[in-house]
Amino acid sequence: MRRAVFLDRDGTIVEEAGYLERLDRMVFYPYSVDAIRALNRAGFAVVVITNQAGIARGIVRESFVGEAHRHIAARVEAGGARIDGFYYCPHYATGTVKEFARDCDCRKPQPGMLRKAAADLDLDLSQSFAVGDRWHDVGVATAVGARGILLRTGLGRREEASPQPDVRPAAIVDDLAAAAAWILEQR
Ligand SMILES: [Mg+2]
Ligand SMILES: [Zn+2]
Repeated sequence: MRRAVFLDRDGTIVEEAGYLERLDRMVFYPYSVDAIRALNRAGFAVVVITNQAGIARGIVRESFVGEAHRHIAARVEAGGARIDGFYYCPHYATGTVKEFARDCDCRKPQPGMLRKAAADLDLDLSQSFAVGDRWHDVGVATAVGARGILLRTGLGRREEASPQPDVRPAAIVDDLAAAAAWILEQR
């Protein structure tokens, strides 16, 4: 079984842009590919997990999410790095698109995407990390016995200013580059 680092997408790998629904609005942070490559080389599976409630809200086309993830994969591969899997939650309980307007077990902090990835990729969640700019990115880690890291990019500074009593980050760091360095120091 492999250890994994689960990465949020918006505000973590690419800039937070509200409901990202067009490729020309997607802006990579300059260190993202380097950080992913460092995690690859240390033997971690790198898996993207992203809440995409914009699908249930009728703002984001589901086909665009696949297109965006192919674009991210290509950009990462061009830099000599690799993302082992992409998972997204299209649901939102009060959404307007009927097929996605429901409660689910995959919207972070629910751990459904991590459990699916663990089954697909043979991952040891207890030895894994989840990284993101929202408290639910930390909470999804602790829900499966992994460690969660909050970033100050995206919406992270606002989150840091509103601590959640039941969500305990293993670390709070400036950005994905710092998170990768912190994870590699734990070994
Ligand atoms: Mg985010
Ligand atoms: Zn879901």
